[in-house]
Amino acid sequence: MWFGTFLRQTGLQGLGKSRAGRCAVCGRRTIFLVTEDENLRENAFCVWCGSISRNRHVARCIVDTFAARGVRRFRDLAEVQGLRVYSLSAGDVFARVWGNRPHIVYSEYWEDCASGQRRNGILCEDVQRLSFEDESFDLVVSQDVFEHVPDWRRGLEEVRRVLRAGGYHIFTVPVDPIAKTSPRFERRGEELVPIAPREMHGDPLQGTIVTYTTFGRDLLDYLRETGWEAELRETTKEEERRWGTFACSTLVTRRV
Ligand SMILES: [Zn+2]
Repeated sequence: MWFGTFLRQTGLQGLGKSRAGRCAVCGRRTIFLVTEDENLRENAFCVWCGSISRNRHVARCIVDTFAARGVRRFRDLAEVQGLRVYSLSAGDVFARVWGNRPHIVYSEYWEDCASGQRRNGILCEDVQRLSFEDESFDLVVSQDVFEHVPDWRRGLEEVRRVLRAGGYHIFTVPVDPIAKTSPRFERRGEELVPIAPREMHGDPLQGTIVTYTTFGRDLLDYLRETGWEAELRETTKEEERRWGTFACSTLVTRRV
């Protein structure tokens, strides 16, 4: 599965930048295989589990956040009793490492499938209208989801609603270091009309999906104004070297 992504990307021009380290997701000593070094955040595949830099940085942030609950390695999270987790991906490397657990919920999104229904056994959820009850989770994880959500503010409100007070949403979106958060579409009546050049991202389920929003660092201000403690944690050189978290930043946010 991950190998397909790897094969599709094999220009192999970055191979010389591949390096050794310990994978923050699967925990093994590994090689981070760089096939293309322009966007290391989405590259540097662990040869064991297929994780990319972004996955590993999120994993490190989760471990740091839950260290006090006995989480030392990423996989430990699956063993913590009483911790309820929701991940907005059912097919990623996190789902593979954590596996099927009663206290971990995974979902995917299909436009023509209502929240709470299942398709091929996988739960469908639209983050703008989640099917879960209030205060259902201690941790919500999403990776590069919110730039694809038409009403991302509504989506964040929904995540807030389903988190317990003090619960965490640990997530990534591509953050532009200079630009302000700005829509790439505008609602006119029922329609969303593009107001910026179309930007598509690869998606394992849908092929490609459209980007509705460019996020800037001012997302932090928005989060703080809407009931979150929020930090944009940028990877350090030491982490990059040790855990293969190249060029990453992750939002660690806590429902106040
Ligand atoms: Zn790995």
